[in-house]
Amino acid sequence: MRITFLGSGAGAAVNPRRGAASIHLSHGDARLLVDTGPGFMERMADSGLNPDAVSDVIFSHLHFDHAMGVVELFSRLIARSGPPVTVFGPRDTDSYIEAALAFARVNATGDRIRAWLDGVSVELTRPGDERELGGLQVRSVEVPHAPYLECLARRFEAGGRSLVYSGDTTYAPEALVPLADGADVLVHEAFTEQALERMAQRLPEAIREGLYVGMRGSHCPAADAGRIAQEAGVGVLVLTHLTPDEREAELVAEARGAFDGTIIVASDGLSLEV
Ligand SMILES: [Zn+2]
Repeated sequence: MRITFLGSGAGAAVNPRRGAASIHLSHGDARLLVDTGPGFMERMADSGLNPDAVSDVIFSHLHFDHAMGVVELFSRLIARSGPPVTVFGPRDTDSYIEAALAFARVNATGDRIRAWLDGVSVELTRPGDERELGGLQVRSVEVPHAPYLECLARRFEAGGRSLVYSGDTTYAPEALVPLADGADVLVHEAFTEQALERMAQRLPEAIREGLYVGMRGSHCPAADAGRIAQEAGVGVLVLTHLTPDEREAELVAEARGAFDGTIIVASDGLSLEV
């Protein structure tokens, strides 16, 4: 399977240097979008990938920087005559997609377009779900991120190779070490305190505390992502979901403190054969 990062940033509005979270995963004829952060379609074009070929979408969770671009996808795909996509996701993905389809229906000028939108289906992939999707075995476990949202990490396997994507999470070894056990590649979200400090300096003092609480309470330090990679015995750790103030050398140094395998810092357009 091949993964291509369409967006390696955290949040859509806060990061002018990286796109919001989205990964393209191809295997055989399957073309899967793992999260669709807004703006991912431009980066798909930059990577030479064809949005018309997308077969399915799978969400880690429904925060805007991971899901909102699905409307862009629908607006594009209504013009194609191919089969409708299926959207897989956590709790509430059904109501989210219903709303996204309502946006897209504003542009539904003909019967063919309406029929395509009517054909979009949703399947909830709740914690513990295991299924085959486009020739890939997909396993889902819940990770702690936001108390009001279900967030799922995924393990994709095919032909004896395996890829794990953490989604957004705090340090959660109890969920992620077993999921990532022996994986070839672990894509894990990460931040560093140094970047957090730089980001805070640019903010008015009144909202700095909120940034610290928000990042530390719902995201994962790079050092801890390294710990998970080491405990799980993965081959390659890819750090992603980065704020604009992150520096590659600092991210790698933090993760290296715990993990002695290969460490890669994700960038938009990065493509890896797993
Ligand atoms: Zn996010």
